[in-house]
Amino acid sequence: MIEVRNLSKRYGDKKAVNDISFSVGKGEILGFLGPNGAGKSTTMNMLTGYISSTSGQILINGVDILENPIEAKSNIGYLPEIPPLYVDMTVDGYLNFMYDLKKCKLTRKAHLKEICDLCKISHVRERLIRNLSKGYKQRVGLAQALINNPPVLILDEPTVGLDPSQIIEIRSLIKKLGKNHTVVLSSHILPEIQAVCDRIIIINKGVIAADGTAAEIADKLTNEHKMTVRIEGSTHTASDKQEITDALKSIDGIKYVRADMEREKGIYDYDIESNEEIDVRRAINTLCREKDWNILMFQLSDMTLEDIFMKITSGDITAVKSNDENSSALAGYEIDFENGSSGAEKETVSDSSEIKEKKDKKSSSKKGGDK
Ligand code: ADP
Repeated sequence: MIEVRNLSKRYGDKKAVNDISFSVGKGEILGFLGPNGAGKSTTMNMLTGYISSTSGQILINGVDILENPIEAKSNIGYLPEIPPLYVDMTVDGYLNFMYDLKKCKLTRKAHLKEICDLCKISHVRERLIRNLSKGYKQRVGLAQALINNPPVLILDEPTVGLDPSQIIEIRSLIKKLGKNHTVVLSSHILPEIQAVCDRIIIINKGVIAADGTAAEIADKLTNEHKMTVRIEGSTHTASDKQEITDALKSIDGIKYVRADMEREKGIYDYDIESNEEIDVRRAINTLCREKDWNILMFQLSDMTLEDIFMKITSGDITAVKSNDENSSALAGYEIDFENGSSGAEKETVSDSSEIKEKKDKKSSSKKGGDK
């Protein structure tokens, strides 16, 4: 459905996207994950034909986006990070306008009704877009992307800035849409990608760092062992931490050591990664015996997708140092609310005249069982 071949984009000297290739099959939900500045939006914008590529090719449903943009774009519904809404229009006016703009041939009334029902915006169709909450504006943005029933949906950070219940709503809507559409979704929020996507591409500094299901990505990268060891040094001071870190690093097969926070007074946990072929546990034990250090805890851990993401995006310490955008992405981790409190988002009325209108309607309604 989507075929990307050797795609690159330069901004002056900067390569925002550097020779990436991937394809997305019919009915697949692909998550495009990466820290801020990784090149996600640039890729999305090229996929949708919004900006041109410096080199490479994009085929949407077999149609080249640069050679035949109108036909290729007719296959795409796009929700940019900031939804393209005309806030002085009503929801209904806007959707009808988009229907005309897309030269949609489907039966207008039934099609718009179907989309509004799906996006749960039927009850706000007469409202001015400017008076809707951010979550509802996002749903209207999604609704416009669905007009003309495009087989491909491209959604750029669709839950950014939404509150937890709005996030749940939009995520479950995307999942539903994934049943009938090919979806490419970008996000810097890992739990979001895990909750919604069948497959994940991790992009970092303009290149693809990993591609596969969460399990496949983990499998590929678990040729390393990861463990956490709590070691008690001899002085119970910060100098222990440095000495132990250096000594662990000198063990054959250990690739990475990081002293975590102080767990007990003067005692630290050390996160260690080693080559799979070499079991370093005995060497660590021998080292501690020789140095007269005590191992107070030893825990082997599998690499989670989160570990992998951290490693890919911050593992290269020298590169990350010069790129603040990467560290902000990690700070952007958010709690997975998927299992938290649910409940549909309630549209709040911000405009006082609308509040009055609603009250009037309610009081004139004599029917019982109002829900
Ligand atoms: P993401 O969406 O992953 O946060 P972007 O695709 O927006 O990343 O940006 C990738 C890189 O390209 C960043 O370093 C960004 O500063 C740069 N960039 C994006 N758009 C432009 C532009 N119009 N001009 C110059 N540099 C840009």
